[in-house]
Amino acid sequence: MNLHEFQAKHLFAAQGVPIPRGYVVRSSAEAREAAERLGGEAWVVKAQVHAGGRGHAGGVRVLEDPEGVERYADTLLGERLVTHQTDGRGQPVRAVLVEEGVAIERELYLGVLVDRASQRVVFMASDAGGVDIEEIAAEEPERIHTACVHPAAGLQPYQCRQLGFALGLGKAHMGALTRVMQGLYRLFLERDLSLVEVNPLIVTGEGRLLALDAKVTVDDNAVEVGRQAEIQDMRDLSQEEETEVRAAEHHLNYITLDGNIGCMVNGAGLAMATMDVIKLHGGAPANFLDVGGGTDAERVAEAFKIILSSPAVAGILVNIFGGIVRCDMIAEGIVSAVREIGVEVPVVVRLEGTNVEQGKRILADSGLDVIPADDLADAAARIVAAVGQSEPEGSESRP
Ligand code: GDP
Ligand code: MN
Repeated sequence: MNLHEFQAKHLFAAQGVPIPRGYVVRSSAEAREAAERLGGEAWVVKAQVHAGGRGHAGGVRVLEDPEGVERYADTLLGERLVTHQTDGRGQPVRAVLVEEGVAIERELYLGVLVDRASQRVVFMASDAGGVDIEEIAAEEPERIHTACVHPAAGLQPYQCRQLGFALGLGKAHMGALTRVMQGLYRLFLERDLSLVEVNPLIVTGEGRLLALDAKVTVDDNAVEVGRQAEIQDMRDLSQEEETEVRAAEHHLNYITLDGNIGCMVNGAGLAMATMDVIKLHGGAPANFLDVGGGTDAERVAEAFKIILSSPAVAGILVNIFGGIVRCDMIAEGIVSAVREIGVEVPVVVRLEGTNVEQGKRILADSGLDVIPADDLADAAARIVAAVGQSEPEGSESRP
């Protein structure tokens, strides 16, 4: 789960990590009031969306009078912001952050993440802040420095100094950097985070360190089991993929992908295998969908509707292994969903396991245009062929 910049900064401040003074507002009049209350000669207006790259996309602007702040907030609020990290539609802007403008001496990068290889929390830092860190990692990896934290010992002050010197900071900044890193480390552990990014962490004209941007990702597993009630309240569903939110409400494990073959499968392992076999046959899955083990006809119908709600879906492959779940019940769910909303794309169904004969009969008797398949390879070949026919360009991914 991702947080907004203003929420992340709120968490930073509570750990003593310095941030610019500012207010989050939801109207242009409030934006102007915020600028007047902050005082000073320059302000920064920042669109609050779950995406980076706002600076290059016009979502962050420095302004020199409160009227300008009001006008710029007005142009952002209620619109959608498209950045290189969003899809083509962009993310809705429902709040903006108005901050005091600060003079930037240097822009650094500081990140905290879980490194799976060492199984530890790792700090990553670079003197090339303010730009895409992935680019630096690819082109100038020597400019990225890391510190690996031993879980029992915790983050050691010497590690902070080592990173500080690698960043080219002088002795005068070591205390401040250590406080920033220790604050972020505490936050990381206390809030079950999986990622923190401060890009840029700046050295100000007055020689202070300041977190100018803040990105925080919370481990979904921690949120789901209720370990982070306060964080859960920060969830902004308007920033999440609509289809995924709807699927989660129905306890479906659903992820949008960029192919054109919709998949409905029970079990995450079988879903992965199904996607692999589709790929093997030259197709591309439009989604990952696990309807779960103990599913019912209603949930199957909902899953079917969710898959069909995507305009990219040019065909559907249903692959069910009936263990606990019965194939006849799955078939009923498919029939009722298709009857309710109609379906204009080819549907290939492969059923196996408990009550498979009844399931196949329900589908055959329904009069619906469903293509039966004998096994997974057969099913994948059939859906790839069917989608290829309806779409001559083949099953290439959308941009
Ligand atoms: P992102 O593009 O979504 O990562 O948004 P950021 O919060 O990182 O802002 C983008 C850029 O705007 C930063 O890298 C800074 O160069 C600039 N910026 C943000 N706040 C200020 C400020 O207070 N003063 C000045 N001069 N520049 C700022
Ligand atoms: Mn940034």
